[in-house]
Amino acid sequence: ALAEVADHVVALAEAEDLPGHGAAVSLEVPVALNVNENPYAPSPGCVADIAAAVAQAATTLNRYPDRELTDLREALAAYLTRESGVAVEPAQVWAANGSNEVMLQLLQAFGGPGRTAVSFAPTYSMYPEYARDSVTGWVAGRRREDFSFDLDHAESLVEEHRPSVVLLPSPNNPTGTALPPEVVSPLATMLRQNGGGVLVVDEAYAEFRRSGVPSALELLDDHPNLVVTRTMSKAFALAGGRLGYLAASPAITDALRVVRLPYHLSSVSQATALAALGHADELLGAVAELRRGRDDLVRHLREEGYEVAESDANFVLFGRFEDRHAVWQGLLERGVLIRETGPDGWLRVSVGTPAEMDAFTAALAAVRENAM
Ligand code: PMP
Repeated sequence: ALAEVADHVVALAEAEDLPGHGAAVSLEVPVALNVNENPYAPSPGCVADIAAAVAQAATTLNRYPDRELTDLREALAAYLTRESGVAVEPAQVWAANGSNEVMLQLLQAFGGPGRTAVSFAPTYSMYPEYARDSVTGWVAGRRREDFSFDLDHAESLVEEHRPSVVLLPSPNNPTGTALPPEVVSPLATMLRQNGGGVLVVDEAYAEFRRSGVPSALELLDDHPNLVVTRTMSKAFALAGGRLGYLAASPAITDALRVVRLPYHLSSVSQATALAALGHADELLGAVAELRRGRDDLVRHLREEGYEVAESDANFVLFGRFEDRHAVWQGLLERGVLIRETGPDGWLRVSVGTPAEMDAFTAALAAVRENAM
């Protein structure tokens, strides 16, 4: 009977042409540059601290975890304050299992039947899925040709649809484009004047932004409907730990307390994240190296004649290819897995270690040679 149920679910998904999340395709390859992970595993010191913290948490696993995430929210607030220079209070912070869950909770709290969520394509492929899973209407606007954000277009969509949620990644995935600071405030204000929706600036890759690019955290005090989400998956090299978080007004974190499942964040997750936060300096050192690797990669690809989108993230969108699938396949045959995503003709590659970048650029040169 279970198999029948599984078949039924698959058939339903196929009938409705529902997209599964593309990143779920996982292949065993020597060089995996497809899901924007941090290529550096936690250091032995960090591993030891995480192991000790988890061992301590294990002594009380008969009890439910702290549902208020008290210590963790305090540590995350202190980290955000330090990283951005903006004073963030623990009452403004909320956390869940990855920013994926944070976003779903936001859609559960502020979306729902009869309400609309808006984003601007090309953008993060999970947004329409959060909308679908929370039965929220979905409207995809567009970015300009160069992937920059078009405030006039966004404002006209807000007037037309009066969305309850606007999702705006900065830097954007898959293009790497950071939002110019001057668009966030007008959009947040406009949302308040058009039905009171929340503006979610998804800063999953914020730590990789180039110097001089501000964080939307700076605008939190001005806008009670502004939410800034972050994750430990990228800069903190903790994708497997599943820890995402946000900063917003306490009224918003209270709304999330209504929809979260009881004890949604395990004691083990809380202990792991706290221990990793203790290694922030070391981890952000690796981020600085990855930013240099990103800038080198952009320069190299441009020198090779490719079109490359400006990137403030730990990945680069490049092209354009007549047949991008053939290039993706050719790289895979040479042991390098990247992501076939974004507008047609473009491919996305995550920034790995220098050795991984060498493997990627060599494979790309070989694929081009082969095609000539
Ligand atoms: N937002 C964006 C823009 C992302 O690219 C990702 C992950 N690829 C996430 C959110 C979710 O990350 P996580 O759930 O690991 O925090």
